[in-house]
Amino acid sequence: MPRTTDRLPFPYRPEAALVAQRLACLQGALDWAAAAQVAAPWVRAVRENPPPFWAMESLLKEYPISSAEGLALMRLAEALLRVPDAETAIALTADQLGRADFDGATDSTLARLSSTAIAMSKHFLPGAGQEPGLMAKLGAKTVVAATLRAVQLLGRQFVLGQTIREGMQEAAAARKQRDRLRLSFDMLGEGARTAADALRYLSSYEHAIAAIAQGADPARHPAQKDGISIKLSALHPRYEDAQHERVMNELVPRVWTLCRAAAAAHINLTIDAEEVDRLELSLDVFDALAQRVAEHCPQWQGLGLAMQAYQTRALELIGHIVSLARRHQIKFMCRLVKGAYWDAEIKRAQEQGLPAYPVFTHKQHTDVSYLACAKALLDAPDAIFPQFATHNAGTIAAILQLAARQAVPFELQRLHGMGEGIYREVLKNPLVACRVYAPVGAHRDLLAYLVRRLLENGANSSFVHQLADESVGMDQLLISPLRLQPQPSLPLPVDIYGAARTNSSGRDLSVIAQRDELLTAHAQTAVALMTQARVEDATAAVTRATEAFGTWSRTPVAQRAAVLRFAADTLQQQQPRFCALLVKEAHKTWGDAVSELREAVDFLRYYANEAERVMAPQALPGQRGAVTLGITGESNVLRLVGRGAWVCISPWNFPLAIFMGQVAAALATGNTVLAKPAEQTPAVALEAVKLLHAAGVPADVLQLLHGPGETVGAALVAAPGVAGVVFTGSTQVAKIIQRALAAKDGPIVPLIAETGGINAMLVDSTALPEQVADAVLQSAFRSAGQRCSALRLLCVHEAIADGVIEMIQGAARELVAGDPSLLSTDLGPVIDAEAFDHIQRHVARLRGSAKNLLPETPPAQALPHLIAPQMFEVKAIGEVRQEIFGPVLQVLRWSGDPMDVIGQINALGYGLTLGIQTRIDSRAQALAAAARVGNVYVNRNMIGAVVGVQPFGGEGLSGTGPKAGGPHYLLRFCAERTLSINTAAAGGNVALLAGPAAFAHAR
Ligand SMILES: Cc1cc2nc3c(=O)[nH]c(=O)nc-3n(C[C@H](O)[C@H](O)[C@H](O)COP(=O)(O)OP(=O)(O)OC[C@H]3O[C@@H](n4cnc5c(N)ncnc54)[C@H](O)[C@@H]3O)c2cc1C
Repeated sequence: MPRTTDRLPFPYRPEAALVAQRLACLQGALDWAAAAQVAAPWVRAVRENPPPFWAMESLLKEYPISSAEGLALMRLAEALLRVPDAETAIALTADQLGRADFDGATDSTLARLSSTAIAMSKHFLPGAGQEPGLMAKLGAKTVVAATLRAVQLLGRQFVLGQTIREGMQEAAAARKQRDRLRLSFDMLGEGARTAADALRYLSSYEHAIAAIAQGADPARHPAQKDGISIKLSALHPRYEDAQHERVMNELVPRVWTLCRAAAAAHINLTIDAEEVDRLELSLDVFDALAQRVAEHCPQWQGLGLAMQAYQTRALELIGHIVSLARRHQIKFMCRLVKGAYWDAEIKRAQEQGLPAYPVFTHKQHTDVSYLACAKALLDAPDAIFPQFATHNAGTIAAILQLAARQAVPFELQRLHGMGEGIYREVLKNPLVACRVYAPVGAHRDLLAYLVRRLLENGANSSFVHQLADESVGMDQLLISPLRLQPQPSLPLPVDIYGAARTNSSGRDLSVIAQRDELLTAHAQTAVALMTQARVEDATAAVTRATEAFGTWSRTPVAQRAAVLRFAADTLQQQQPRFCALLVKEAHKTWGDAVSELREAVDFLRYYANEAERVMAPQALPGQRGAVTLGITGESNVLRLVGRGAWVCISPWNFPLAIFMGQVAAALATGNTVLAKPAEQTPAVALEAVKLLHAAGVPADVLQLLHGPGETVGAALVAAPGVAGVVFTGSTQVAKIIQRALAAKDGPIVPLIAETGGINAMLVDSTALPEQVADAVLQSAFRSAGQRCSALRLLCVHEAIADGVIEMIQGAARELVAGDPSLLSTDLGPVIDAEAFDHIQRHVARLRGSAKNLLPETPPAQALPHLIAPQMFEVKAIGEVRQEIFGPVLQVLRWSGDPMDVIGQINALGYGLTLGIQTRIDSRAQALAAAARVGNVYVNRNMIGAVVGVQPFGGEGLSGTGPKAGGPHYLLRFCAERTLSINTAAAGGNVALLAGPAAFAHAR
């Protein structure tokens, strides 16, 4: 069962009011000037006597992340250690070192190693696209070895040990210097993608707890001992709100096992804070754990939760945790952090068109929120042991002041390898307790963690960065966050395209208020039955459309655009009803339905704007300032006009977005439309047409003709007077239409066709397997693989193929195929029996000819036309001859030159989408340039093109172009006309005679 109530308020609230509220909490409680006075000597001392070269502060000073060198270092650190084959390691090193200049680095281990590597690289590393010779190859290996060593050394500074034993030995050594040192161990790794990953992490946490417990003094309070930090995303492959029931049934018992072990040893266990859309879910888990602690071990005070102050709900979160503790009469440890996923949260809100940001958008706002949250934690000593995790000297000084006023116990926390300088100074006060968060794990697992830290601290706004930058003065470094005007610094997601175009609005389906409207609409929406048009209706409909064309095409473009914008706003308002219809009629999942509606809204707004742009008369050869260029005495104007009646034939896989896109483009440019929706999804089309009519499109200007393509569609195409056809569907039907048009007498009729493709993704051995698995799952199986852009052929480098395939297999097994109206469903049924049979025939063929990588697990629910994800390994690209329009992925291992793979993909003749996964930038560029495809996506999924941002459409067997949602689309719907007037015809060139200066000026 999904959650039925949210504990916390709506996350997307106006920022200014929230900041004002937090400032009010601090009123009279904090003297910032006094805090800054405490912090200033720490800063001076660190600047005068910096920590060792390896500390983050020093590293950033040497190689700022904004510089080519810093970026190269980060990229190498992220990828090099995991590259198994020498050839690719050389290519990656050449790519990154080649674009940086490390000369002048200070004389330290890393600097020496890296400058040696750079110097050697000039001789040995190949340039882009070159092959190194034998001598060069030997040299190149040495460069790579030196670089590897440098990266490993770098990594070691941020990881306490490769195993928990090693970490504990290091800790014991460090404790000799400072006996009150406490640690929280973190077992490194990416979130679990598979059930096996989750069990592996569980066992590594169990092992670590056992090791920490061994040396722990049972008489001491958990706050005085080492403990462990865990990530819930590591313990379940589907730790997400949509899988609520599974999470509660499977994850909670796992975490409880860990809690019991920690409680038995009386050590602390803290749950790390992750993404915003998992916060409510994490509270469900935490509440369940609290209940068990209260029942089984109420004396244990070591259960902890990390909380992110950058979240707009942070203060209410603390309120919830305090009352939870009081309700159960237990005590928690609460780690207050600012938050590590700021950039990702901003991007998610923009991508999903959310009502506002769930995090603050000014660094100072986060700082204010942090201090307000700190005060709230210190105010509840009966319920909370507060832990303040920060490297910011101003924040630390303010915390010390707030804590001194309350006189309650607390501790500070820092990350291993960071904040060393400041903490060296802060801890000169022996009364201050500090815990170090200490990652433990193999170097390979360090990378993502390290890059997060580098990025977070390399940002200009970061305290660590500013501390390292001597040009930032003390006043600026310790500026009061309390005195600033709370204004948001980023445009809201709805405004990211500026004043010209409003972004469509989406929904956060993890927020109950946002999804309840959809579920209510689902209960209330019925799929209308539609009568089919008769073949003989086609000609009369075309005649009506042709007659209506005159008036509509003469309607000013601004007026037509206004009608479309109004339709967009209405569609946006009716989002729940249309989404419900998409789920019911087209078997869309809720996430897909919301995205599709947004795309339709975007098409309406984008083409409205585009029509106004392209249809404005254009003086030729052009203007320079106020002066018209060209031969004097004449005026030349180019204008675009509609062509007449267009037949728009759209598919069932995007029954709203593609339907609306085609129709809106034709209408905006002054054409009239005969819309023929797919036979499977007429009800969505009917509602869309009603909406457009209500918005002001006359009935004869837009007519809907529902019926089979072979009869009604064919009759429309064949009808005399049709001015153009726009079609999205199979290549085969596009060819039939093309031939039918060619065979017609009369004017030559243009065809715009957008068809399918055998879309491939090329993965080299620098790619991050987790990122690849995520991208593959979304691209191949989302919408049950029924997208033109969907991934059909995955080409993985043989050096990493086993691991990547295993991860995808495991992740695919976690997908839920079922009833699309349930939030937990990932794949709904395919569209109808014909599609089902067609896919099954291909699957049967592949079972005979290829290796079955995912022997079919029966779908969880016995719904008709449900197909669970399928995966087959083929031996050659040539074996993949046909597009299979369903959740069927074919996989190929490759080796050698990736250009050859692209050559073979090109040879298939399709050209729609291509995915590339590599960390070698020059390789990505070269492969993209060589590929004959319409849309190339690097290091991401390859579906979900955004209108006006990623114009979509292919070439070759994949379509005629132009790209939908791009700046050239509308041109194809128009005829071009020029008007040339001899302005000197009546009595000579008056303009020239009146003022030759203007003419001269133009030269
Ligand atoms: C012991 C420890 C444990 C941690 N555990 C977690 C955890 O479980 N989950 C987690 O998410 N993070 C965690 N972090 C990381 C933490 O959230 C911060 O990212 C990091 O500590 C930097 O904050 P600061 O106070 O040290 O530095 P500062 O430089 O003062 O603050 C940087 C922070 O400000 C915020 N910020 C930056 N730019 C903006 C902006 N334009 N608008 C609004 N806010 C902005 C970000 O949160 C950024 O991280 C942990 C940190 C420590 C020390």
